[in-house]
Amino acid sequence: MALSDLTADDLGQLESELAAQYAALGDRGLSLDLTRGKPSPEQLDLSERLLSLPGEGDHKAGKTDVRNYGGGAGLPELRAIMAELLGVDADRVIAQDNASLSIMYDLLSFSMLFGTPDSERPWKDEPKLRWLCPVPGYDRHFGITEALGIEMIPVSLDEGGPDMDEVEHLVATDPSIKGMWCVPIYSNPTGTVYSDHTVSRLARMSAAAPDFRVIWDNAYVVHTLTEDFPKVPDVDTLAAEAGHPNRFLQVCSTSKITFAGAGVSFLSSSRENLDWYLGHTGIRSIGPNKVNQLAHARFFGDAEGVRSHMQKHRQIVAPKFEAADAALRRRLGGHDVVARWSRPEGGYFIDLEVPDGTATETVRLAKEIGVALTPAGSAYPYGQDPDDRHIRLAPTLPPLAEVETAMDVVGLCALLAACRTARDGM
Ligand code: PMP
Repeated sequence: MALSDLTADDLGQLESELAAQYAALGDRGLSLDLTRGKPSPEQLDLSERLLSLPGEGDHKAGKTDVRNYGGGAGLPELRAIMAELLGVDADRVIAQDNASLSIMYDLLSFSMLFGTPDSERPWKDEPKLRWLCPVPGYDRHFGITEALGIEMIPVSLDEGGPDMDEVEHLVATDPSIKGMWCVPIYSNPTGTVYSDHTVSRLARMSAAAPDFRVIWDNAYVVHTLTEDFPKVPDVDTLAAEAGHPNRFLQVCSTSKITFAGAGVSFLSSSRENLDWYLGHTGIRSIGPNKVNQLAHARFFGDAEGVRSHMQKHRQIVAPKFEAADAALRRRLGGHDVVARWSRPEGGYFIDLEVPDGTATETVRLAKEIGVALTPAGSAYPYGQDPDDRHIRLAPTLPPLAEVETAMDVVGLCALLAACRTARDGM
C-alpha cells in the first residue's frame, strides 16, 4: 500500500514500528560503507598474477624496450586489445597511464589553455563556458568542470539516455556550450545504456560551438552483470558521417578490470584529436608506463581474455546486486510509491530514488546507525539535487552479508524518512 493511502493513525503506527526497528539496528554498532564504487578484495585477487608480469627478462614489445622512455601513444599490443573491445581501428586508440579521469582532466585543461583543433581561441579566453551534465551523473566529472570554472547545466537522463530534445535545442542555440559528459554504457549511477537512437542524435546534432565535444566515458564498457556484453557503438564513424569528425573523445580504463589505481587508461578519437592530445602530453611526459601496459597485454592475451576475465568479476559482483535488490524489495516493495531503484545489467551502482525531499534525511539516518552512503546530491552538479531525491548505492566493495545488512538499513531509513515527511505534510 502507498504511504499516501494511510490514515494519520496508521502512518503514526508504522512510524513507531520503524523507529523501534531503527533503534534495534542502531544497537548492533554497525560500521558499513556503500559510498564508493570500488572493486572488492576478491575482485582484485582475480588479477593477482598481474603482479608478477611482465616478469624478469620480459621487457620487449616488438622492438620497443618497455623499460625505457618514449612511446607516448602506448604499446600497440594493448591498444589492439582495447580497440577490438571498442570496435575501432587500433590506430584510433592510445594507451596511457593509470587513470582515465586524468585523461579527462587533460582534455579539458588542454582545451582551456590552448583550444581544440576546431577552436577559434583557447577556451579560457571565451567570455563564457558552459557544459551539459546528464543527471544523475558521476560526481568526479562534475568536479572537473567545476574546478575549471565551466558552468554546468543539468539535463535529465531518461531511460535511453539524456533528454535529446533538450540537448539538441541547447547545443544548437548556445555557442558557449562547449561540451557534454556522457557515460553511455551502464551509466554511473543509474546503469542506463544509451539507445542507438540517442547515440545517433548525439553524433548528428548540429552545434553552435564549432569545437563542441562529447566526453564519451566508457568506464563500464565490458562490466556486464549478465552473460552478454553490451553492443558498443562506433561513435566516431557516426559523427564523421554527419560532418563532426572530432566530436567524440572516448575514454576507458582497466581500473575496474584489473587494479583500480594501477591499471591502464585509454583514449579513442579522430586522428586529429589524438595528434592534438599527444602533442600536449608529449610536453608534460616522456611517455607512459609501458611496463604496466606490457603486463596488461600479457595478462589478457587478447580481447577474449578480457571478456572471460569480466565474467569472473560478474560471478562475484552480480550476487551483491541481487542481494541489494532483494533487500530493497523486502523493505520498500510493499510501499511501491515510496521509492524506486535501478536494476542495472552492468556497472557498479544502483540509483535509489526516494520521495522528494527525503534523500538527505535518509542518508543522515543511515549514517547515525553506522551505514555510510554517498552524500545526497552528489550525483548532481554542485552537489545539488533540486528534488533531494537520488541516492547512489555502491554494493561492490563490502562482502555479500554486509551488502544485505547495509541495504536493509538503507531501505528502513528511506521508509522512515518518507513516513515522517508524509506525516509532517498531513
Ligand atoms: N568514469 C566513471 C563513470 C567512473 O564511474 C569512474 C570510477 N568510479 C571513473 C571514470 C574513474 O576511472 P579511472 O579509474 O580510469 O580514472
